[in-house]
Amino acid sequence: MTDYDVIVVGGGPSGSTTARRASQHGLSVLLLDKAEFPRLKPCAGGITEPAEQALDFSLEEVFQRRMYGPMLFAPSGLRVDCTRPKRTGGMVMREDFDNLLLRKAEEAGAEIREGEKVTGVVESTNSVQVKTSAGKQYSAAYLVGADGINSIVAKRLGFYDGWRGETAAVAIEVEAEVDEETVTRICGVPYDEEGAAFHIYFGPVPYGYVWCFPKRSVLSMGAGCRQDKAQNMRANFNAWFEEFKKKHNIQPKILSDTSARLPFYEAAKTTVKGRALVVGDAAGFVNPFDGEGIQMAVKSGVIAAQALQEAVESNDPSNLMNYEKRWKSQFNDTLKVGKRIASLLFKSEKNMETICRLGAEDEVINELMYKLIASEGSYGKHFRDLIKRILLKHPRAGLSLYL
Ligand SMILES: Cc1cc2nc3c(=O)[nH]c(=O)nc-3n(C[C@H](O)[C@H](O)[C@H](O)COP(=O)(O)OP(=O)(O)OC[C@H]3O[C@@H](n4cnc5c(N)ncnc54)[C@H](O)[C@@H]3O)c2cc1C
Repeated sequence: MTDYDVIVVGGGPSGSTTARRASQHGLSVLLLDKAEFPRLKPCAGGITEPAEQALDFSLEEVFQRRMYGPMLFAPSGLRVDCTRPKRTGGMVMREDFDNLLLRKAEEAGAEIREGEKVTGVVESTNSVQVKTSAGKQYSAAYLVGADGINSIVAKRLGFYDGWRGETAAVAIEVEAEVDEETVTRICGVPYDEEGAAFHIYFGPVPYGYVWCFPKRSVLSMGAGCRQDKAQNMRANFNAWFEEFKKKHNIQPKILSDTSARLPFYEAAKTTVKGRALVVGDAAGFVNPFDGEGIQMAVKSGVIAAQALQEAVESNDPSNLMNYEKRWKSQFNDTLKVGKRIASLLFKSEKNMETICRLGAEDEVINELMYKLIASEGSYGKHFRDLIKRILLKHPRAGLSLYL
């Protein structure tokens, strides 16, 4: 006998979604998070439409602004308007978004324990046991590692030994408070006075980008790049930020200034092992091209809950493998293509400039860039169409990308 069917470690989007869906399937679920919610999480807070659609409840109460696509800036400063007059998701403050998801897990029947850090994980033939900072011990038939990039579940149970070098990215995230009118002046769109575009700046940092994501009266700004390429990232970001403040004539109040790491390469080679599985960042589910992770965190939670139900009902842990099969068929393509885009785009400042210029000049390329960033439709097909279009219509520029 175990205390629960499932223990979920981590109450971010992947853990809360797993806990909610598994509870809805009738399983007894304990979710443990080391933090007390609402808690701060370094994040730009962009929720794409597919991420929103993967949830079974409305996000209206946490959306700060509706999103109408990206405005890109080349290293030369060239502005590439990839916005569209249709809504493509929204902007959230992560403390509100994550708190809502956690409360939705609780509402579905999951038992939530906040402020309890998991310090030990052991698997035996018929169960898993976790130890926590509160001096408690719990057992379950199955364990879910939803505990982010530094997952104790993944490390202790031998899924992998960490994300480093070219398999990780480092990021700075600053929440800068201005006022609603200023956010609209900088990021507003002509289609909706409540909506906005998110800005992406190529050039200020190598192998990555700087962003400015608009909330109601706050600009979330930051820089992210591959960890092994990160040189002077703080100085580069500060220099860009000073220019930005001068250009837009703003003196924001800094609400937070944090840094974080995220997986940046491809999924973990193993996502199921014995009686455990990993979801979200703990499984490496972040798009290496743009850093989008919330969509796959939520989707992996939905898929994991289904496999957990199958394993509990059949009393057969081998059914957890259904999770690995299903996430691969649903979004492994996105991760693989995202990696190919990242290696081409971030290869040099010249490549970033060329791709932005083509996006400004060629409507078909502009549309494909929009679809890739907004995560709309088939990722692999859009990328193939993009490369075909560049090589056929702009062969000289196209070949230069590969030289
Ligand atoms: C700077 C930055 C900007 C980003 N911007 C975006 C964006 O705009 N859009 C987007 O889609 N993605 C973005 N991402 C990626 C996104 O934040 C992640 O992919 C997403 O949060 C993954 O969700 P998760 O639930 O797997 O992990 P997390 O959100 O990291 O949650 C993990 C949880 O586990 C808990 N935990 C960890 N260890 C333990 C332990 N030992 N015991 C108990 N609890 C534990 C933590 O407290 C935390 O609550 C960004 C990432 C960064 C770093």
